[in-house]
Amino acid sequence: MNFIQLRSNGLCIENISAFRLTKKYRTPFYCYSLAQLRNNFLRFNNVFKNIKPIICFSVKSNSNLTLLRELRKIGSGADVVSIGELLKAIKAGIHSKKIVFSGVGKTEEEINKAIKKRILLINVESESEVILINKISKKLSKKTSIGIRFNPNISGNTHKKISTGNKGEKFGLLYSDCVNLCKKIQKMKNVKLEGLSVHIGSQITDIKPFKNMLSTLDKLIERLKINFKFIDLGGGMGISYSNKEKKLNLKKYSQLVEKFMKNKDAKIIFEPGRVIVGDAGVLISKILYIKESANKKFIILDAGMNDLMRPALYNAKHQIIPLKKTNKKFTGNIEFVGPVCESSDKFLNQKVFVKIKEGDYVSFTHVGAYGMSLSSNYNIRPTIAEVMVTGSNHKLIRKRQSLENLVKN
Ligand SMILES: *Cc1c(COP(=O)(O)O)cnc(C)c1O
Repeated sequence: MNFIQLRSNGLCIENISAFRLTKKYRTPFYCYSLAQLRNNFLRFNNVFKNIKPIICFSVKSNSNLTLLRELRKIGSGADVVSIGELLKAIKAGIHSKKIVFSGVGKTEEEINKAIKKRILLINVESESEVILINKISKKLSKKTSIGIRFNPNISGNTHKKISTGNKGEKFGLLYSDCVNLCKKIQKMKNVKLEGLSVHIGSQITDIKPFKNMLSTLDKLIERLKINFKFIDLGGGMGISYSNKEKKLNLKKYSQLVEKFMKNKDAKIIFEPGRVIVGDAGVLISKILYIKESANKKFIILDAGMNDLMRPALYNAKHQIIPLKKTNKKFTGNIEFVGPVCESSDKFLNQKVFVKIKEGDYVSFTHVGAYGMSLSSNYNIRPTIAEVMVTGSNHKLIRKRQSLENLVKN
């Protein structure tokens, strides 16, 4: 189901025309469809209904508080990677027994907080980390539930900057290190090993890496002979960023997981981010200038790489669509760029685009995940507003950062 669509009267987010929103909110701003968000979560839940997983939404993909609250209302937990994300998940009302904490570099402060909050699992990624968790737990007279993150040495066939499951990456523990550390953990008094976790990367559209991941997990579990209470399969499910691109077949993945679970009584955890929120958000931007130079037509937008980092960081291609439909066309070398003083502040090249002029608006699509959450203040640009649409209503769910705040230090 698509709740964000280009209709005859232009781009609509549910029942509201994006153009109307530009009269209410200053561009650039992110805008989310609540129906799309809910639909994605409930669909994910439904595809995996035979497994009844704990779904821990990956907060780093989008950490807006209103959005987290909406996900909590329909049963979501949270996967967090910092104390900030942990506090936000708790503030959103997510129960601590539905929160998992991942990351290779958790600080003492972060571990302390996670232990005190009695979260579901701290997923550990090194021996030193386990020793520290054990030590802090002892001091607090607690027995802390942990998971061990396994690096299955599998390529996700995805962009190398979002691949995490290769043996040369910093994430997780390789097979034999995992076996050795599990033995050591079992002798420690203040941690209990309840989970085994993997996460092999992001935007994986091919089923094979997941298939390999599950069979490698099977081998490890057989070797370890541990009855894990939780098996955390991470996130990484890929979406299609345009009509031409394929997305992960979730149904197939669920069938593989069902097969994998036949001889186990563990609870499955998933940590999806992109597949829940990716297509639920757009970024609305105004055309400041159109400049012709060196055989190119530069469309200079008021949104920059600091607002949407993915094109500069990962060469990601986000489609750009006009808010108003017209049949007149521009042709040539069209390049959409931002105002930031970096040559990598460019978004997309097109040979054809509808005829637009200075002062018109465009929208980036599929920017709900890793859009706002990756934004920065580079060039002393305030982080932008976020708006949520539900049916025919819209509301501001994060204010544009104030300039006064930004120029203080
Ligand atoms: C980023 C991340 C996720 C979410 O990945 P998506 O591709 O957005 O589903 C899940 N788990 C861990 C450990 C992560 O680092």
